[in-house]
Amino acid sequence: MKKISIALDGPAGSGKSTVAKLVAQKFDYIYIDTGAMYRAITLKALQQNVDLSNERQLVDLAEQSDIQLQYLWEDGQSILHTILDGLDVSEAIRSIEVTNNVSVVASVAGVRDAMVRLQQAMAQSGGVVMDGRDIGTVVLPNAELKIFLTASVEERGKRRWLELKQKGIDVDLAELIEQIKKRDFIDSNREVNPLRQAEDALLLDTTEMTLEAVVERIVNLAKEKGAVLK
Ligand code: C5P
Repeated sequence: MKKISIALDGPAGSGKSTVAKLVAQKFDYIYIDTGAMYRAITLKALQQNVDLSNERQLVDLAEQSDIQLQYLWEDGQSILHTILDGLDVSEAIRSIEVTNNVSVVASVAGVRDAMVRLQQAMAQSGGVVMDGRDIGTVVLPNAELKIFLTASVEERGKRRWLELKQKGIDVDLAELIEQIKKRDFIDSNREVNPLRQAEDALLLDTTEMTLEAVVERIVNLAKEKGAVLK
């Protein structure tokens, strides 16, 4: 049975991870959240009080870290956990402090080299849905299906705001939109592997689309590329 690779890129809050998880479930593929890996390194740097402008130290940290994405069965579904040096950091990597500093850490070339190597090894045997910023352009340039998911920054802000509210976290929407803009700016303008749509990626603007419609569209495209439903 053919197992393809699906690359899902796009700006912050475009719904990549939600969509990627659902698409992966449909085909019984693994979902690889590459943002979680950059977040894990950022968390470690913050915990160790590393000066975030010290690139050498950040690269050493990335090279010496053991990052694993593990699937654990919870409430009838498989949930992705991020394990850093043997500790489950799935919650901690979503903190506002990590979110506001991750783009700086992710712009360091040596940090990216280490992460890209890991990501390519994880995707070696296909059957993956990988989401990030440089998946279609750098990590999996030969992916059979590449999607660039986007939505207006206001809509992305609203979605994030709702997601946080559901978790009991109250934040100011306008401030959240500003943070997203700032992160997108750094991610799109860094020298190494910036956020960019691959030439052969399909642009999907989800501003006016429901989650179900986005998933259905990608599932159909994947089937056309040879992916087989589970
Ligand atoms: O996807 P998520 O929003 O969790 O990603 C967090 C950050 O990690 C991004 O804002 C970006 O700076 C970085 N990232 C990256 N390349 C990827 C995935 C994430 O630079 N492939």
